[in-house]
Amino acid sequence: MKVVVVGGGPAGLYFALLMKKSNRAHAVRVLERNTADNTFGWGVVFSDQTMENFRQADAPTYKTITDHFAHWDDIDVHVKGATITSGGHGFSGIARRTLLRILADRALELGVDIRYHTEVGHEEALRGLGLGDYDLLVAADGVNSGIRRRHAEHFQPDVDVRRAKYIWLGTMRLFDAFTFAFVENDCGVYQAHAYRFDERTSAFIVECDERSWRGAGFDRMNTDESIATCERMFAPWLDGHPLLTNMQHLRGSQWLNFPIIRNARWHHEKMVLIGDAAHTAHFSIGSGTKLAMEDAIALARVLNEPSVTTMPLSAALDRYQEERSTEALRLQNAARNSMEWFENVRRYIHLPPEQFAYSLLTRSQRVSHENLRLRDRSYLEGVERWFAARVSARGEPGTGNGEPGLAAADREQLPVPGSPFPVPAIQAPTPPMFTPYTMRGLTVPNRIVVSPMDVYSAHDGVPNDFHLVHLGARALGGAGLVFTEMACVSPEGRITYGCTGMYASDHVSGWRRIVDFVHERSPAKICLQLGHSGRKGSTKLGLEGTDIPLDEANWDVIGPSALPHRPTMQVPREMTRADMDKVRDDFARSTRLAIDCGFDMVELHCAHGYLLSSFITPLANRRRDDYGGSLENRLRFPLEVFSAMRGEWPDDRPMSVRISATDWVEGGVTGEESVRIAQAFIAAGADIIHVSTGQTSPDAKPVYGRMWQTPFSDRIRNEARIPTIAVGNVTEPDQVNSIIAAGRADLVALARPHLADPAWTLHAAAELGYAEQWWPWQYRSGKQQLERLIERRKGT
Ligand SMILES: Cc1cc2nc3c(=O)[nH]c(=O)nc-3n(C[C@H](O)[C@H](O)[C@H](O)COP(=O)(O)OP(=O)(O)OC[C@H]3O[C@@H](n4cnc5c(N)ncnc54)[C@H](O)[C@@H]3O)c2cc1C
Repeated sequence: MKVVVVGGGPAGLYFALLMKKSNRAHAVRVLERNTADNTFGWGVVFSDQTMENFRQADAPTYKTITDHFAHWDDIDVHVKGATITSGGHGFSGIARRTLLRILADRALELGVDIRYHTEVGHEEALRGLGLGDYDLLVAADGVNSGIRRRHAEHFQPDVDVRRAKYIWLGTMRLFDAFTFAFVENDCGVYQAHAYRFDERTSAFIVECDERSWRGAGFDRMNTDESIATCERMFAPWLDGHPLLTNMQHLRGSQWLNFPIIRNARWHHEKMVLIGDAAHTAHFSIGSGTKLAMEDAIALARVLNEPSVTTMPLSAALDRYQEERSTEALRLQNAARNSMEWFENVRRYIHLPPEQFAYSLLTRSQRVSHENLRLRDRSYLEGVERWFAARVSARGEPGTGNGEPGLAAADREQLPVPGSPFPVPAIQAPTPPMFTPYTMRGLTVPNRIVVSPMDVYSAHDGVPNDFHLVHLGARALGGAGLVFTEMACVSPEGRITYGCTGMYASDHVSGWRRIVDFVHERSPAKICLQLGHSGRKGSTKLGLEGTDIPLDEANWDVIGPSALPHRPTMQVPREMTRADMDKVRDDFARSTRLAIDCGFDMVELHCAHGYLLSSFITPLANRRRDDYGGSLENRLRFPLEVFSAMRGEWPDDRPMSVRISATDWVEGGVTGEESVRIAQAFIAAGADIIHVSTGQTSPDAKPVYGRMWQTPFSDRIRNEARIPTIAVGNVTEPDQVNSIIAAGRADLVALARPHLADPAWTLHAAAELGYAEQWWPWQYRSGKQQLERLIERRKGT
């Protein structure tokens, strides 16, 4: 093949040498606009795992790169005068210039033709260079790729330029660990990412959000003034060393905004994108160069497979895109989480240093609690000890949540004295999920919640034996807090004929039987979720399909506006003030009945498009009176209902509110609004916000994934300092521990995992070797057998 590579960065050079190595007959030319030693940036980092890929691709470059490595294991987080160190991270740094020299030397040795100082203005210009008859043009021209831009209609790039600012500097101060230093002052919050990459130099990247950047006056400073300001700001870590710019190439020493780049297609005709031209991953996970070089490995391999001679070039390039785009997307997702953490560091800076550092280490969701244990057991056990000690040493039961903006997480967590199921004294180290949690006078023994899940098994709203066994089994299964399904406040407030209610004496006796069982037979607490279906009511049982109206509409549905949830569903009657009074009073009555049943907690369902949720979302609420329009107006009726319930519910018992933190629809509720929604309910006397999303519109475009709704809980909890319950595709104990220890939520609700395994918590305790977990005495021999099985499995 005649191959022309535009761009002599890591992607271009590595691809060129691997191509030539695969087959010396290929004619490979690299055109680079800069001179050989003129490059932006300072150092790059690779993980041990990445190096293994390089070893397999080309042993000589692998060896030379490793000979030039600065290696470290520790990450140091400096915040608020504390330094938190965790080990076992296994990273290596190398100067970008050295890396490029190694790649270029090897490429030249293998016969690649590298032409420096050759800017490719347009592919047509290649003819003038005698290179017009190429078989393949590789666009390795980096983040601002001209080739990608010129053929944008084919590559369909998506460029998301972020608002945070960063500047890539260097220093002769040698850092022993990968260092994150945070400075908080009157102007904002600033962070440095610093690491050594050779015997003399460290990279020092300063980053901050736009408000902090302007606050410090960086927008009015030239590069020298910016650097002098950064030197003053980070003086405690620089030991008198100056910060250095890479003046040969100004681009590397100016404030930049990071662009996230994606392309729908990675090739067009004879052109293919690799490296930053194809995708970018935020520098805070140090994976841009890795991705670029792994693209090079994959592209060279695909083009040299024997089968390629019998297929069109586009089929081979398809194969390359397919292989690499999945990996790129995976890393971009992790990089996005990491980037967002740093962009929003103001949100986390209030956390105690121990929790702040843990949150930082687990920010990308690729490093979990158990990963940290593998990397550095003593660090992780230190975190567990710290968390458990904090839970048992601070806070007072019964203090309530009176002060809006004060996280219950920052208050005390103590067991209620005299309980028949005393919460075990905290033994250090304790997995965070097994620490108790207190809201007002209620202490739940651990952080696991059984999500409210409709089982569509009631007749006339009466909870029956199925509900008793279903909820009872989950209480025996070790969860700290068991939620009932949404119990409806009136017959017409039901979603289906199978929904439970809380409006008749049969309902009270049915629920009381369940509550009594839970209290007498387990240490679990039980929360009644109350709701009204609104315009989503009068439908078939959920298990028959979602939102399918009854064949014959049996009751009229109501809503804030006369807009159906789906075109196939009933058009609700727009509620009058009299309707509102009735609904409010129904909620108040159901709350009084919940007291009779002995429930520990009640939750108001304001999520998922049911009545109160449909008031909050502008997608369903088009009212022109005081209950529509602004968020304040849309919240008015749900808050009125909440206050009526709070007025009935005892002061020493907590209340939660479930919200849809986003509609996942443009023009709907956003994550930003969700913070205000949560604040409004907390101000009205809620103790914790149960953070779900969506189900408010059939047009929603949710982004699913592991723990996909946790970022919304994280935002509410840390931006507004409001206690939260996280929910949504959390399946592993490891995930629960990470969420709790990082302060992304106070409790974690699991739905489907509890359908598959009522004893999810007991199993988690056995897996984690947590001996203090309560088991029903009747099941003790099962516990012993399970523990033996786990031991045996771990042993093999
Ligand atoms: C602040 C910061 C820190 C980073 N830290 C790390 C890290 O620790 N680890 C890591 O793995 N990655 C890191 N990266 C990412 C890394 O720099 C890039 O992902 C990587 O350089 C991509 O390689 P590339 O070859 O695709 O592009 P580049 O390295 O950008 O190379 C593109 C080359 O093309 C040349 N070029 C462009 N246009 C033309 C043209 N028209 N004609 C001729 N030549 C042209 C350019 O001069 C350049 O040499 C960091 C990035 C930033 C911004």
